[in-house]
Amino acid sequence: MKLSAMASGIRPSSTLSISAEANRRKAEGVDIINFSAGEPDFNTPENIKEAAIRAINDNFTKYTPYEGIYELRKAVAEELKTEGLEYAPEDIVISNGSKHAIKNALSAITDPGDEIIVPAPYWNSYIDIINMVYGVPVIVQTRKQNIFKVTRAELEKAYTPKTKALIINSPNNPTGAVYSEAELKEIADFAVEKDIFVISDEIYKRLIYSRHLKHISIASLGEDIKKRTIVVDGLSKSFSMTGWRVGYTASDRELAKAIANIQSNSTSNINSVAQAAALEALTGDKGEMINMLKEFQHRRDFIAQRISDIPLLSSILPKGAFYLFVDVSKLLGNSVRGTLLNDSRDVADVLMNSYGVAVVPSDAFGVKNYIRISYATSMRDIVEGANRIEKFVKQNF
Ligand code: GLU
Repeated sequence: MKLSAMASGIRPSSTLSISAEANRRKAEGVDIINFSAGEPDFNTPENIKEAAIRAINDNFTKYTPYEGIYELRKAVAEELKTEGLEYAPEDIVISNGSKHAIKNALSAITDPGDEIIVPAPYWNSYIDIINMVYGVPVIVQTRKQNIFKVTRAELEKAYTPKTKALIINSPNNPTGAVYSEAELKEIADFAVEKDIFVISDEIYKRLIYSRHLKHISIASLGEDIKKRTIVVDGLSKSFSMTGWRVGYTASDRELAKAIANIQSNSTSNINSVAQAAALEALTGDKGEMINMLKEFQHRRDFIAQRISDIPLLSSILPKGAFYLFVDVSKLLGNSVRGTLLNDSRDVADVLMNSYGVAVVPSDAFGVKNYIRISYATSMRDIVEGANRIEKFVKQNF
């Protein structure tokens, strides 16, 4: 008996695995600061929880339309309208989190052997999801000088006649970079000219830390790019709803139908109660969400300053999301407690095993020499984690 070649090639999600390992050690009584998974430490806002409780009490517990309830799809369409995106509720499919939305989107457009361009650093799961749908990930290295944002010239080099789509993620996980309109326009022109799809992962769009910077969806840059873009978003990050599993795709109607068909035969509708909660998140009071955003900004400023004060470490101030991407290249080649630090995995191992700090090494994101710190955790942990990282560097280098 043999597993499929596809299943044998799939790795567990590195972000989730590292976080699970950190939590396992914590449960065993080890003192660990968990800077790994991007999961807000806040409770889901009260009004959202109450909407879910009401839904249960009202017996809203049966199948719903497999693409999601109309009111929720309408609420999504209305939010998108505020970003200059005209979608009808019929163009939206509510999925089990944005990871599932990406899988749905890739399933709808990928034939075996189709190439999907993924700029690195990338969110780790893109690669495995592409492999799951028998696509071929084509990784494009970006430049630190350009804050790791992909350019048209880099995309041109990766393009072949087999290219089917490219993935773009702004604000970016793991760098926190936010693409400008001009940068997106270049990418949009490329996609339109080459006649390829764009999967635009906008899960961090509500988490931007500058009044002068606003989220722009590539799909808003004209009809030609809109019809070939699948916008992906979810509520996990900005509404602290990671466990509820609510994401969606917004796309051209034909694609939306294909995505809905795929979903109807795989998961059916997402949890009905979670849909009621999501409707409240999008249409109800956003006070708690705005407070979370302010707190993330405060944490970002703090951790970015602390890390930049530590000799040998550097990072670029993230403009969005809740990650700090820290350059550890100056630590490599040295030995710490008998372990030679060859790469960022070794740095992450020493931090976890000897200093009780869980971070994600950048190999998981397709680049070398960085670690990712998630600051979606309490200020107390951020202070303590920063102290431990400082101690690690000062004691050993
Ligand atoms: N997206 C988050 C992260 O990058 C959560 C874990 C995951 O699904 O990868 O940490």
